[in-house]
Amino acid sequence: MSTLFLAHPEPDGTLAKSALEALSATIQLAASLETPFCVGLVGENPGPAANSIAGCGAARILTVSGAQFSQARYATDAAAAEALCRATAATLVTTPATSRWNRVLPGVAHRLGGHADSHVTGLTVAAGQPSISRWFYRQRMEAVFTRSTRPWLLALEGGIAPVAAVSNRQAQVTAPIENITLTLPATRTQVTGFEAPASDQQTIRPDADLLFVTGAGWTKKQADGTVKVAEAGALILDFLRLSRSSLGSTKSLVDLGGEGQSVLPFLSHLNQIGQTGSTPRHAKGLATCCHGEEPHTVGWRFIGERRAISMDANCGWARGKADILYVADAFAVMAEVNALLAT
Ligand SMILES: Cc1cc2nc3c(=O)[nH]c(=O)nc-3n(C[C@H](O)[C@H](O)[C@H](O)COP(=O)(O)OP(=O)(O)OC[C@H]3O[C@@H](n4cnc5c(N)ncnc54)[C@H](O)[C@@H]3O)c2cc1C
Repeated sequence: MSTLFLAHPEPDGTLAKSALEALSATIQLAASLETPFCVGLVGENPGPAANSIAGCGAARILTVSGAQFSQARYATDAAAAEALCRATAATLVTTPATSRWNRVLPGVAHRLGGHADSHVTGLTVAAGQPSISRWFYRQRMEAVFTRSTRPWLLALEGGIAPVAAVSNRQAQVTAPIENITLTLPATRTQVTGFEAPASDQQTIRPDADLLFVTGAGWTKKQADGTVKVAEAGALILDFLRLSRSSLGSTKSLVDLGGEGQSVLPFLSHLNQIGQTGSTPRHAKGLATCCHGEEPHTVGWRFIGERRAISMDANCGWARGKADILYVADAFAVMAEVNALLAT
């Protein structure tokens, strides 16, 4: 059994946190299997990244380099991954679950006659055989399973292992870096650039410490008899900007937006937390103007510490769904919190 860890450097030449976490999981896997492992890096100039992890204990470090590999493109990434797998005769292949690797792994597995699994959240070894953990049915059931097909390609989720503590080339004697030359297939796809919203508009931030959830109450008639949607939007966006938290929503609130009403235009179904939404992982969560219904709070099961602000002292949060419930007007509380954060 031999293991190959695949990664691509970031535009600044370094390896991302998710890559170093996946490397650390791979080092642990190889140690448990008592087999050597190799590293394969793909990028325009992966040399500095290879040097930075040269002390990680890999038997071989291979690179595929060149301008064609600077950007994500199926044809070139798949060809590079296939060549690295063949060059190392790897039976297990691990990658960080970046969009770049997630896109090509199934195709590479097909070319090699192997099998790919995505969203891997754990690696274990029993009696010399590797098993993986993976969640199914919207993260309600966790399965631990193995496969006999080889090579077995695994996209490892972020946060499942600590960042690898590896020394660089200067620090110790290390594996040589071998560059593989590929004959590339004709490519029709030209990557002309990325279009992404400005980072301030990017409200879903999986790495944030805090999940901030908005509920339909923000759009309801308030004690003074008026609806204050514009004020609500400003308070929420200010809080996100000041706290860098990730924005979640209840279904009721995003459904209103989907009907074309002018309510909190920055929310979409991608923000929805719950049974029919997502189940994010954050250290803390703060729900505002939401009732704490079971179909919503079921999406909070991986949130470490839960707090809520609701006017209703008898809401779902009060019945055991939150660690702390503030029975208060969220408009007043968040205005005060924003003022404190701004100072
Ligand atoms: C099959 C199924 C699947 C579902 N899946 C999901 C899901 O994935 N996610 C989800 O969220 N829901 C889901 N739902 C809907 C869910 O049951 C609730 O209807 C929904 O979560 C309620 O949204 P809400 O709490 O924002 O709104 P509401 O129930 O209208 O609650 C609004 C709350 O805001 C409070 N409030 C109002 N003004 C203020 C103020 N100024 N300050 C503080 N508090 C205030 C009110 O007291 C009230 O408690 C699902 C339902 C079904 C049937």
